[in-house]
Amino acid sequence: MSDENFQAHEIRDKIVIQYKYTLGGHSKFFIELKDNKKILGTKCKKCGKVWIPPRVNCSDCYEETEWTELKQSGEILISTIVWYTTSAFIASVPYAIAFIKMDDADTGMLQGVFSENLVPSKIKKGKRVRAVFNKEREGKMTDFFFVPEEEYENWIKKPEYEGGA
Ligand SMILES: [Zn+2]
Repeated sequence: MSDENFQAHEIRDKIVIQYKYTLGGHSKFFIELKDNKKILGTKCKKCGKVWIPPRVNCSDCYEETEWTELKQSGEILISTIVWYTTSAFIASVPYAIAFIKMDDADTGMLQGVFSENLVPSKIKKGKRVRAVFNKEREGKMTDFFFVPEEEYENWIKKPEYEGGA
């Protein structure tokens, strides 16, 4: 290998991997999302902090949490507009992603924000948003997204979407 004329031969290839993983203690969040269009957080049994995304144990005091259903509205803490993404989301470009503080929660959750008129003045800090659900849900984070509150009624009239529980 010390030959100064050495040149690595490279072959372009594709590997398909079938895999399955468990969501463990977080499973209820995805099951309730898929079956009942509910967004669940977890509430610490000791300090009362409400976590979304849910945590099995409180990250502040390490105590157990219990499930709690959240209102499906909130406000944007910080956001950006997405122009480059993976093949899974390229058809939706441009869209926004935002940390959203849901009304009953104490933490922010990163989630997509769609708008009929995607301009920075509509997707910004303090903007009120509501959750809209796909009619065909798989038990994934992409089963729902947020829209500006004033667009909610228009979004849930579209054939592929519906309002929450
Ligand atoms: Zn706690």
